[in-house]
Amino acid sequence: MTRIALIAHDDEKPEMLDFAAAHESYLSTIDIVTTGTTGERIRDEVGLDVDRKASGPMGGDLQIGGMVAEGALDAIVFLRDPLTAQPHEPDISALLRICDVHDVPLATTRTAAEYVLAGVAAEDDVTLDA
Ligand code: PGA
Repeated sequence: MTRIALIAHDDEKPEMLDFAAAHESYLSTIDIVTTGTTGERIRDEVGLDVDRKASGPMGGDLQIGGMVAEGALDAIVFLRDPLTAQPHEPDISALLRICDVHDVPLATTRTAAEYVLAGVAAEDDVTLDA
């Protein structure tokens, strides 16, 4: 089963909700892991079933990084806020690094997310709507 992680910093949550809603039909066919608040909002506002980890600042990014180390994730969409310092910056860096170590596709912007999800879907023989 294809499994991806969706994470968004607060300023990027509207973008993440728009992304999830735009691809709801495909995302509903795969496993989705999220950090706490991102997942709560995707569940409540888009209606997708998600596996919620802890909130990012409470260790959720590290939990998802652990899944990357275990080979449990096919891709990550992590919409970061590039203009606001985050208290859990070391955890964010760790997640980015472990994705590099294991060559797990990681998108940090909406445009990159579209490319990554299209690639993941293609592995499932699914063509995403434009
Ligand atoms: P959140 O965490 O989904 O719980 O807001 C995201 C983050 O800050 O990494």
